[in-house]
Amino acid sequence: MTEPLQKPKRKNPVLRTRQMNLPPAERGRVALGITAAAAEGRFELQVCDDCGTVQYPARAACHKCLSQNMQWREQSGDGELLSATTLHHSNDLFFRERLPWRLGMVQLDAGPTLMVHLHGEVGEPSARVKVDARLDRTGQAVMIGLPIEGSAHMADDKMLREMTCDPKFRKVLVTDGKTETGQALVRALIAAGADIVWVGHAEPWKQYGGLEELEALPEVTLIPLDLTDGRCVAEVSKELGAKVDIVINNAEVHRTYGISARRGTDAAKMEMDVNYFGLLRLAQELGPALKGRAADRDDSAIAWVNLLSIYALSNFAAHGTFSASKAAAYSLSQCLRAEMQAAGIRVINVFPGPIDDAWNQQMLPPKLNPEALAKDIVKALQNGIEDVYPGAVAREWRQRWREDPKVLERELALHGE
Ligand SMILES: [Zn+2]
Repeated sequence: MTEPLQKPKRKNPVLRTRQMNLPPAERGRVALGITAAAAEGRFELQVCDDCGTVQYPARAACHKCLSQNMQWREQSGDGELLSATTLHHSNDLFFRERLPWRLGMVQLDAGPTLMVHLHGEVGEPSARVKVDARLDRTGQAVMIGLPIEGSAHMADDKMLREMTCDPKFRKVLVTDGKTETGQALVRALIAAGADIVWVGHAEPWKQYGGLEELEALPEVTLIPLDLTDGRCVAEVSKELGAKVDIVINNAEVHRTYGISARRGTDAAKMEMDVNYFGLLRLAQELGPALKGRAADRDDSAIAWVNLLSIYALSNFAAHGTFSASKAAAYSLSQCLRAEMQAAGIRVINVFPGPIDDAWNQQMLPPKLNPEALAKDIVKALQNGIEDVYPGAVAREWRQRWREDPKVLERELALHGE
């Protein structure tokens, strides 16, 4: 059984913050297929299209029939534990600081045998086990053996917490509490055990529905935060940089214009100023503080979430300038991910389809309700997923975009104005 996690004690401010050590990150190019799937929450292995062999480790050709016709296919991960051991010594700095560490050899029902990190609740050989691929602190996929039926505190397992960004007992900043999505997010984070949630709101002199109810929650502190104001972003970052563990940037401006529906660039500039430059300002001010606290163990900074849009992948003409601003933010978030990787901080990008809010009022269903979106974001943190496509529309578009970006572009153009 996993010991329930205790709320971390206050850190002695005189103590030096530890430096981050990362697990070994080298992978062959073929093996990156496992990481690409794990980044979206799937466990995939190579399967030979000619003889059906499921292959691990990844290679350029099938080890049975030498065919090069290998495809990445999702696996159930069911298998049997052949042997297990607990490491009490390691020459690798990352594991040395985290000993003891349990490892096991698993034979998958699908065929291959793999070495996996082993969750504490998996029994001794020959216990049944479910293998899943998770991203470690370098953002590379590793395999972990999980119990078939975990206990209520299963997520508190030390090893699993190294690979996820579970909000339990963590301190979170949500940059915009005015929107329905922001408010649903705050509630979902508190339900998941977040310790403190700072909730940003621009224009504090204006009244917004729902903010007062949020403020009444003991975990919530409202904080004036306007991402278009560099000085305000700097001040908030100075105040929260030493405390916040998870940043969720959900602030956005969404107008429903293409190019010809409106003259001038005012609306487009406003979208860019929040959706793109807002992210840039926040990352420049808050990023370095987070990186410096990545190894603070129980109190470490761990994740950065960006609310993007499925329109970041392909422009939807009816929301043309909004799409362009989200595409810019998407590109910048990849830069942020590359920079945060050295500190082991996970950058999670969220690509929802149309959300059921005021700006998509004219749009026909299916639309994603803000509660479902909030739940998917919290789940992504709990599972340590990197790219999230919440809702059926986003998943379908993602699939089409993956098969052929040109087809999606044409389809969206037909539905635009
Ligand atoms: Zn084969």
